[in-house]
Formats: sequence, C-alpha cells, structure tokens
Amino acid sequence: MKTNSEIEAIVNGVLTKYQKRGGSYKLFEDIMLEEGIVFKEINSANQNFVGALTKGNTGQKSYIFINGNIDNTGRRHFTIAHELGHYFLAHQLKDNSIYCSNTDIAEEGNQFDPIEREANYFASCFLMPEEKVKVAFLSILENRSRKKIKDFLLVKNDYTFGIWVLIRDELTKRYGVSEAALRYRLQYLRLARFEFGR
Ligand SMILES: [Zn+2]
Repeated sequence: MKTNSEIEAIVNGVLTKYQKRGGSYKLFEDIMLEEGIVFKEINSANQNFVGALTKGNTGQKSYIFINGNIDNTGRRHFTIAHELGHYFLAHQLKDNSIYCSNTDIAEEGNQFDPIEREANYFASCFLMPEEKVKVAFLSILENRSRKKIKDFLLVKNDYTFGIWVLIRDELTKRYGVSEAALRYRLQYLRLARFEFGR
C-alpha cells in the first residue's frame, strides 16, 4: 500500500526523467519507448474494457491496451496515464494482466479498490503536476480577476463562474485533461472549490 505522497514522489521521478515543456501527455511515446512498453488501441464495443496493462510471458515486454472507442481526448490521456500508473507503481498483476473498466478509471479519484485508486492518483499527478498547475492556475486567476482574487477560487453562480470558464478552457487544453479531472486536481490542491448549481 502506498500513500499519496509516496505516489507523488514516484510520479515526479518519472517526470524529471522525461521532462518536456507543456502537458505531460506529450511524454507518453518517449516513456513507452524507453521502458519497452508496446502500446495498442483496440476497438471494442465492450464498455467494461477501457484500458489494460499486460506483461508478456517472458516478462520482458509490457503492453498497454486502450479501447479505441474512447472519443474524449482527456479521457484517453487519463486512461493511458492510469495504465502507466499500474506499471510504475509496480502493481501485482493477476495472470500477467490488469483490466480496467469504466468505473476503475475514475478521473474524480473516488475509487474504492486501492490498486485502482493509486493508479488514478498517479494519472492525476502525472497529467497535472502540482508545481506546474499551481503556477499556471494562480497566474490566470490573478490576471482574470484583475488581482482581486489571489490564491483560491470559490466558483459560484456569479462572476467567479466566468473566471472559472476561462481557466477551465485554458488548462484542460494545456494539460490534455477533461474538466472533471481538472476540477478534482484543483480541489485536491486546495486551489478551487465548486459550488455553482447544475
Ligand atoms: Zn486500473
């Protein structure tokens, strides 16, 4: 069992090794090439298959499979990062494989199964490293609120919602994540809270 700070330290180790500017999703290819992971997309109508990590029989090569029918880019990136999480956190594989369903891969982090929870937290840190997100978020916040709001955004049904839309549009694009994943990360880092009505 690993704590969140242990997971974060592992993520930072991976990111330092493969540093590039911009979103971490740009590192997927380099990391898989270097680690000897083969990546394949499989078009499956089975909703229960979203992603999987498999080790070949010789144990040398690993494979990451994702369902090619995932049409949302943020969800796709989160799934790949989640499978890399199982890999780098050295999770025990059952019969050489972990198969992850739609509910296992939760961008909002509330997952009961500890192995899946760890992989989700890995994906969240990997795609949105604390230091990068913090700096980016606070600088847009200060700019857009004309310095009225400095370090925390409570999003309500008022002018704060407009500020949030600007931040959301910029950061989901920059980090290649969904709105749900971004919101979860910002709340976790205590940068924002969301109280607007649906
Ligand atoms: Zn999983």
